[in-house]
Amino acid sequence: MNEKKKMSLAVQIFIGLGLGILAGLIFLAMGRADWAVSYVKPFGTIFLNLIKFIVVPIVLCSIIAGVISMQDIRKVGSIGWKTVVYYMMTTACAVLIGLVFANLFKGMFQVLQTTDLSYEVSQSTNFMDTLVNIFPSNIIQPLASATMLQVIVIALFFGFGIILAGEKGDPLAKVIISLADVSMVIMDLILKLSPIGVFCLITPVVAENGPKILGSLAMVLLTAYICYAVHAIVVYSSTVKALGGLSPAAFFKGMAPAMIMAFSSASSVGTLPLNLECVEKLGAKKDVASFVLPLGATINMDGTAIYQGVCAVFIATCYGIDLTMAQMLTIVLTATLASIGTAGVPGSGMIMLAMVLQSVGLPVEGIALVAGVDRIFDMGRTVVNITGDAACSIIVSKMEEKKTY
Ligand code: ASP
Repeated sequence: MNEKKKMSLAVQIFIGLGLGILAGLIFLAMGRADWAVSYVKPFGTIFLNLIKFIVVPIVLCSIIAGVISMQDIRKVGSIGWKTVVYYMMTTACAVLIGLVFANLFKGMFQVLQTTDLSYEVSQSTNFMDTLVNIFPSNIIQPLASATMLQVIVIALFFGFGIILAGEKGDPLAKVIISLADVSMVIMDLILKLSPIGVFCLITPVVAENGPKILGSLAMVLLTAYICYAVHAIVVYSSTVKALGGLSPAAFFKGMAPAMIMAFSSASSVGTLPLNLECVEKLGAKKDVASFVLPLGATINMDGTAIYQGVCAVFIATCYGIDLTMAQMLTIVLTATLASIGTAGVPGSGMIMLAMVLQSVGLPVEGIALVAGVDRIFDMGRTVVNITGDAACSIIVSKMEEKKTY
């Protein structure tokens, strides 16, 4: 038998997307959008249910594992804290940029017509209530109802608890790290269904809303890419120049190979070896880079944070919801923390989007709108993710150098 060359998942997803749009247009032309809703959409719902089911174990375990991995930070002292501060601040900037641009462009996003997408916001807007609601009074209920901010708080407490418990915490740490790994494998299996999931999700959306929705999707993609570029040019250029003493032109030129690799693989982890090589050529110290980059590929995802901000506004707009200031702040907080829990592999940012949406009471079903084009978002956000890690390694190297002389 001839061995057939396996098509990459990305290609399969794009084929699923193309066929889904085509099928949606055919249902529309036949005037049978209801068929797409009755017979195709349920399979898309199964795919979304699977994403929803895996998001809680992933967030819980990978945030705990992320905190435990910061234990090493104490060992590496000043490098560790500088790195974490740079990562958190730039990620918060990234979500802000995403939210600002998405709000500027939201006039170009379309409010959907379909009735079953209508959604009641059952969110309290009182800041004090929001604050109180972040803290769980019980451990099971937040996990069962996927109340994400509470799940994050539980994860942070357990993570720090494990570190503080020292040796006594080791067995639990092992179990959790293993559970995190297993959850990732399950996530990988679910993501393998993406081509079919994407087909089943986009078909009813196009059948019900017509080709106009494609224009909306193009707009949200464009918005995300503008934000990616702004973040890279403003935040990375200025910090690399001011704190790392490297010209932005030299930085981006040196980073080009890793950026191209990130774009085509959509995986920060997969880009790690090349990224290491690039930053070393740019003058980062090997010992600094070999701590900062792997940590970044695990906990620092600025591109993903931008994508989550932009998509949250897009999905809210599609459902005719105006986000309040308190909800926007919640998005900044959750997306920043979500970046700790996002794995550096293709598609994991979309799983984390479920968490961000849940944290502000937006319908997770909204993911159906953007899932079809997730890969296109993913390629860009991974480029930003790894560029942020690289910028940090150059800056921290420079700062450490100054200290020694
Ligand atoms: N693919 C991204 C990365 O590897 C993560 C994401 O899906 O946002 O950095």
